[in-house]
Amino acid sequence: MLNCDRLQRRKARVNMEGALVARDQVGIQDFVLLDSITSETAFLDNLKKRFNENLIYTYIGTLLVSVNPYKELGIYTKKQMENYMGVNFFELPPHIYALADNAYHTMLTEMNNHFILISGESGAGKTEASKRILQFYAVSCPSTSLLDRARDRMLVSNPVLEAFGNAKTLKNDNSSRFGKYMDIQFNREGEAVGGHILSYLLEKSRVVYQNHGERNFHIFYQLVEGGEEETLRLLGLERNCQHYCYLVQVRTAKEPSDLKISCIPVSAGRGAARITVYLFGIIGSILHLGNVQFEADSKGYAHPLTACCILLQLLGVHVQVLQEALTFKKIEAKTEEVLSPFSVDHAIYARDALTKALYDRTFTWLVNKINESLENKDSTKKTVIGLLDIYGFEVFYVNSFEQFCINYCNEKLQQLFIQLTLKSEQEEYEAEDIEWEPVQFFNNRIICDLVEQRHSGIISILDEECMRPGEATDLTFLERLEERLGNHPHFVTHRLADQKTRKTMDRGDFRLLHYAGEVTYCVVGFIDKNNDLLYRNIKDVMHQAKNSIVKHCFPPTEADSKKRPETVATQFKSSLMGLTKILTAKEPWYVRCLKSNEDKQPGRFDHVLVRHQVKYLGLMEHLRVRRAGFAYRRRYEVFLHRYKPLCPATWPHWRGVPADGVERILKHLGYSEDEYKMGRTKIFIRHPRTLFAIEDAYEIC
Ligand code: ATP
Ligand code: MG
Repeated sequence: MLNCDRLQRRKARVNMEGALVARDQVGIQDFVLLDSITSETAFLDNLKKRFNENLIYTYIGTLLVSVNPYKELGIYTKKQMENYMGVNFFELPPHIYALADNAYHTMLTEMNNHFILISGESGAGKTEASKRILQFYAVSCPSTSLLDRARDRMLVSNPVLEAFGNAKTLKNDNSSRFGKYMDIQFNREGEAVGGHILSYLLEKSRVVYQNHGERNFHIFYQLVEGGEEETLRLLGLERNCQHYCYLVQVRTAKEPSDLKISCIPVSAGRGAARITVYLFGIIGSILHLGNVQFEADSKGYAHPLTACCILLQLLGVHVQVLQEALTFKKIEAKTEEVLSPFSVDHAIYARDALTKALYDRTFTWLVNKINESLENKDSTKKTVIGLLDIYGFEVFYVNSFEQFCINYCNEKLQQLFIQLTLKSEQEEYEAEDIEWEPVQFFNNRIICDLVEQRHSGIISILDEECMRPGEATDLTFLERLEERLGNHPHFVTHRLADQKTRKTMDRGDFRLLHYAGEVTYCVVGFIDKNNDLLYRNIKDVMHQAKNSIVKHCFPPTEADSKKRPETVATQFKSSLMGLTKILTAKEPWYVRCLKSNEDKQPGRFDHVLVRHQVKYLGLMEHLRVRRAGFAYRRRYEVFLHRYKPLCPATWPHWRGVPADGVERILKHLGYSEDEYKMGRTKIFIRHPRTLFAIEDAYEIC
């Protein structure tokens, strides 16, 4: 039925426009069709030529390259969505909708699971792309009013998670500070019936500290600057960000607050209002906690300067007990508990550890709550399209543990891309009995191993140091790295570097040669952030909270557990392995986002910057793989259906086997056997120009 729809839409367009609009006529819309000697310069010229005409999308086969225009192009209208519904790749100019639509129809036809991997560095346009795909499905998939709710919830989950998980950085005003993988579930009829979100490692350190020129998570400003008077009064907040230490370390230009605070998609009904109160109670209490200052008594022990009574109201904790937990550590001796007082620095550390944990756990709670609302309990068979939008590769002036994790994640995704593109290509040729010449890639496996290998990788070495409390410091960690990894070609430290390199590093730095370029990491904070300690008595206090979200986020089992929790890096490593498993079980589609310039300037194409991304994303190699074997392949039925008007023997009907019909067409057009190969189920065309010529013949006829 869907295919019928598709055909009718196509017919309608043919009638309307006389012919299908196959090309946008600016440059080449699929790199596979560039002249046979493909140079990087030709590749970039083509991208730029198209970019200058506001054509930001170009294909490499079925991979979509997107260049961030930093301006509205008017290409995401409902009309555009309708144009792309049910259309083959080469029938209309490249678009994110074409990719979304093809993934969707392939899923329905083959009844299998797919994912769309959107990658690129910070600010390249991944989140925008993922939003466009989601919107496309919301409009294009058939729906019933019952299902509209599931679809609306999926759409609304986006701004909510962005409010809590995105922030302005130097690279991007709306940078994702968490990784997001979202499954959209479809039933047999192709209706979006549910969804599920997995979130990855939120950059919680941002709650207590932001680098120069950056901001805290959007939600804080949206609440303080955009919240209703009554909400602020209840939370004891002033409408002035300057008042809150966690927001004023660095002030940057005011950002628009585009989220209506009331649209948090918690389960509807009377409970919803209560949950919203609890949720904003937590956000408010984090701001209040940040303002809690300490003074030292004559012995140097910390005492809170201000009693923060509002916390009793917002979190439902005893302020006295909380203050004690922030200034004393409970040590369990053999028969009794001893209280050990903190210095002021230590108390600040405990306070910040609490706010980070509170925010992080609330974020996880929010994701779970959204998942509950997206869950589809119906047990009939569903297929899914997964959307992966994760923080992009980033390099700042100072890079810390957070950048180390983010860049490691990007390294893993690049590895997955390499494995899948090579693997699928090889497997396809094998399955179809076609001979081909493999193309060499730069394999970043070596860098993944450097970071994650058991016993000898950076994460293992960091964990070992974290097991030596009181003895290990960030600098001993650096020494261990030097001892164990000193000879690694992708690793260097200040001490190990040659003179020229040394000048560009500090003593506390190590540098990794990532697939996307060099990044220098400052070791300060690595041990602490990886350990992520939260004192037991603070957890106890939080578990006693009357605020039900807080209570839920600090379960008693955790406080009772004697087991050492996994370190942050190890947890992240495991979750990335889980993600790899999820993805490799599905059919891949790729969107490679490129950043056009570093200054977020509309329409400016920085040649050097784009060239660098083209290089490290392996786009040239991908293109070579696509061309080394066969530029195009089509299932016999699809090829025959489209091109049968080109041959009298196949037009209007071909009654024989589709493969024979295809061969008749090619012979009729005068192609020799070295220009194509007949596989088991598909026709493989060696040169793009052949397909191009066939397509031209089709347009003329
Ligand atoms: P990060 O890794 O930091 O999360 P990202 O790749 O997700 O970065 P986006 O937030 O999607 O980057 O894009 C950054 C900004 O670039 C957007 O806020 C928007 O202003 C602009 N932008 C991105 N893609 C497009 C597009 N297709 N059309 C117009 N503007 C765009
Ligand atoms: Mg993003």
